[in-house]
Amino acid sequence: MEGVTVVDHPLVQHKLTLMRDKTRSTKGFRQLLNEVGRLLCYEVTRDLPLEMVEIETPLTTMMAPQDRREHQLLAGEGFLEGMLDLVPSARVAHIGLYRDPATLQAVEYYFKAPPDVAERLVIVLDPMLATANSAVAAIERLKARGVKEIRFVCLLAAPEGIKRLRDAHPDVKVWTAAIDSHLNDHGYIVPGLGDAGDRIYGTK
Ligand code: URA
Repeated sequence: MEGVTVVDHPLVQHKLTLMRDKTRSTKGFRQLLNEVGRLLCYEVTRDLPLEMVEIETPLTTMMAPQDRREHQLLAGEGFLEGMLDLVPSARVAHIGLYRDPATLQAVEYYFKAPPDVAERLVIVLDPMLATANSAVAAIERLKARGVKEIRFVCLLAAPEGIKRLRDAHPDVKVWTAAIDSHLNDHGYIVPGLGDAGDRIYGTK
């Protein structure tokens, strides 16, 4: 699928299987989400441009590659910690969106981002790309603030969500650990892993 990278690394696939299992504990689920977050971060940042800078080792000077860009992570529930392990200096923005259960539309209740967000590469994180209403809405809000380079990372995607996101924002590439079969009538990904929020916080 154009613009979509399925991260088929065996560790990612193994951990995702553990997460799908309905008997996985809250603690185990959370830990696995962090671990997969780290691995997905590795993939989404794979092609970042590097600049050669002069440094001094204890033995000599050398030219060495360094990532000089400013990055921005846009947090989706529970998915941030693993990413920040790998990009610890990234700024973090938050867009609070909830899904109206009747319309499944995204409703914004909070937006906070650094003032220079438009200059940054923004990586949007959301564990589940289901209807994509929230993702499309979040990206619209970022673009309205002048952000030009956006990538989207999720753990699981539905084909319907990918299509909607790519149709609305063809410039935004997607990284996911798997593309599942379909969305059910309640907007859940099938076979999926259930409600990610409930699985992370143990609320069900
Ligand atoms: N959000 C979830 O938490 N799970 C789904 O399957 C779809 C959206």
